[in-house]
Amino acid sequence: GRGNSKIADHTVDSVCPYCGVGCQLTYHLKDQEILFVEGRDGPSNHNRLCVKGRFGFDYPRHPSRLTTPLIRREGVAKRLDPEFDPANPTTHFREASWEEALDMAARGLVGLKNDHGPDALAGFGSAKCSNEEAWLFQKLVRVGFGSNNVDHCTRLCHASSVAALMECIGSGVVTASFMQALESDVVILTGCNPTINHPVAATFFKQAAKKGTKIIIIDPRGQALEAYAHKTLRFTPGSDVALLNAMLNIIVTEGLYDEAYIAKHTEGFEALKTHVIDMTPEAMSYLCGISAEDIREVARLYANADKAMIFWGMGISQHIHGTDNARCLISLALACGQTGRPGTGLHPLRGQNNVQGASDAGLIPMVLPDYQPVSDAQVRSAFEELWNTTLEAKPGLTVVEIIDAITAGTIRGMYILGENPAMSDPDLDHARAALAKLEHLVVQDLFVTETAQYADVILPASAWPEKDGTVTNTNRQVQMGRAAMPLPGQAKPDWWIIQQLAQRFGLPWNYQHPRDVFDEMTKGMPSLDHISWERLEREQTVTYPCPADDAPGADVVFSDAFPTPSGRAKFSPTRPLPPDEPIDDAYPTVLTTGRQLEHWHTGSMTRRTKVLDDLEPDAVASVAPSELARLGLAPGEQLTITTRRGEITLMARVDPQMPEGMVFVPFCYAEAAANLLTNPALDPFGKIPEFKYAACRLSRPEAM
Ligand code: SF4
Repeated sequence: GRGNSKIADHTVDSVCPYCGVGCQLTYHLKDQEILFVEGRDGPSNHNRLCVKGRFGFDYPRHPSRLTTPLIRREGVAKRLDPEFDPANPTTHFREASWEEALDMAARGLVGLKNDHGPDALAGFGSAKCSNEEAWLFQKLVRVGFGSNNVDHCTRLCHASSVAALMECIGSGVVTASFMQALESDVVILTGCNPTINHPVAATFFKQAAKKGTKIIIIDPRGQALEAYAHKTLRFTPGSDVALLNAMLNIIVTEGLYDEAYIAKHTEGFEALKTHVIDMTPEAMSYLCGISAEDIREVARLYANADKAMIFWGMGISQHIHGTDNARCLISLALACGQTGRPGTGLHPLRGQNNVQGASDAGLIPMVLPDYQPVSDAQVRSAFEELWNTTLEAKPGLTVVEIIDAITAGTIRGMYILGENPAMSDPDLDHARAALAKLEHLVVQDLFVTETAQYADVILPASAWPEKDGTVTNTNRQVQMGRAAMPLPGQAKPDWWIIQQLAQRFGLPWNYQHPRDVFDEMTKGMPSLDHISWERLEREQTVTYPCPADDAPGADVVFSDAFPTPSGRAKFSPTRPLPPDEPIDDAYPTVLTTGRQLEHWHTGSMTRRTKVLDDLEPDAVASVAPSELARLGLAPGEQLTITTRRGEITLMARVDPQMPEGMVFVPFCYAEAAANLLTNPALDPFGKIPEFKYAACRLSRPEAM
């Protein structure tokens, strides 16, 4: 920090590498090392940073950082060996030259393709990729591997929200930035905990509340923002659809809907009206645990507001009915005319710093860049011309389907860039067994992650502060990130590594810099119209869609029409469904998983950050005080959590904001991996697993 006797000798402007808020920041460096980080005046952060952005910058220089290509030693089994030390990987892997490692990486993949066809290969890119890296990665899979088996962690995050948004309004993007909350009269936050997961966005909600915006929090768990809330509904976990349909019922029966808006901009309202008529607040109250009176009050507040917005997070999306949850939220906004104007809108808060951009750039199995369906011959032919290739029409497999296809023996080889499925996928024993079964696995990352421990070849990649590239945040702002420090050892920029593999697939790629990739992207992605690399270098950030080279982008979209064939949005009625694995006598407690403020996703970066790891060094599970008392445990004692799939033991933390009958476990701790417990059951539309609800049992650990 600044108290340090070291004085910075220069600064580099970039963007935070953690969450989808996309805070702009400045690295202060001396002798090419980052001394400290400050917020810049970006549109989404106004100089603010949270603890991750401010302190989470030293992971690239962690002693276990990969600096040399590695090849698995012969005879070393593919498994998570408790003896393995990521700082000393040469027990299990031998060091190799780039030439040897790349040749071996490509040879294995090409060989499987030749022997078994394109369907034998798959790739996981990452929402930690820059836009340019994501573009190159999906291009390599589509053109080189020859299939659409390419996906990334959006599948585990907002796939269901995007499925519902695409179906109902024809686009997966947010209709308004979160800064618009400052203009709103009413803001609903549901299935999200912004203070923890989008901390700087939370400051905008607090400011809005101070200005008089009524904040309504709808979530089973309590949270810090409740102190700013006008109303809080802590409903029964998994009953979102019941609660939201009850709100729609009130809006319909009390005539609170916006007739003019519905007539001009929507279709299917009459069917929705009939559909929700029997889902009265009284009937739904039994399912969702909220009184009819409270449901009525919140429905009226939202519908009668001049300007209202809905924000949501993983609490909505990570259910087998995640798409239904999002459909209900969209119906609320459409019925009440709460989109398309300042202070109104639908905003699924994006998790990763570049989950929006990586999805836009095509790291999705059923669509080419900008969500253009691979099954559409016209779309394919445009990309075939751009890339001088022929493309496969069959949509590829999603994350969990790829894991299942490995188990079934269809997929035999994989290329994984920056993702950690050995920690992030549901039912980890199953996912890890699949990774071990792969005949050839190439992992490109900063560290020997849990996933890399299953690799045949590990390629040392570039950390965010070491590379140039653009990222797109939750507000549709495309922003410029800049290299601030040199790559350590033999580590290489990710775009270079992908290109080297592409060349070994016989593709004549010759990009010299991410700028060249961005230029190509502008030819295939209408969303980037009027946004050039040079413009981003100059202006730091441009929001899409953008109407002209010198115009600002649109903060609020779909004011006149929706990007659907008819220009109208569609109501999609839903019915409450039970969770896939309801609690019962044997497993009477609800397990829910998620993030912590200090740790990011699977922890591969933040657990290697000194300040953040000092703040939260141990695996913890949060439970209500009464729950802990019932088990006869004191805070800080060990607690065992068991589901039908696995068991973990970790420290118990008392959290008065937890409801009784529920336990929360962050999924960042390898030593007590939450996903050993989770249920892989999928939402049928978004193919997202039910991370937010599994039946579990809490107990004192058995005597050792
Ligand atoms: Fe980074 Fe998100 Fe924190 Fe901003 S709010 S500093 S983008 S983690």
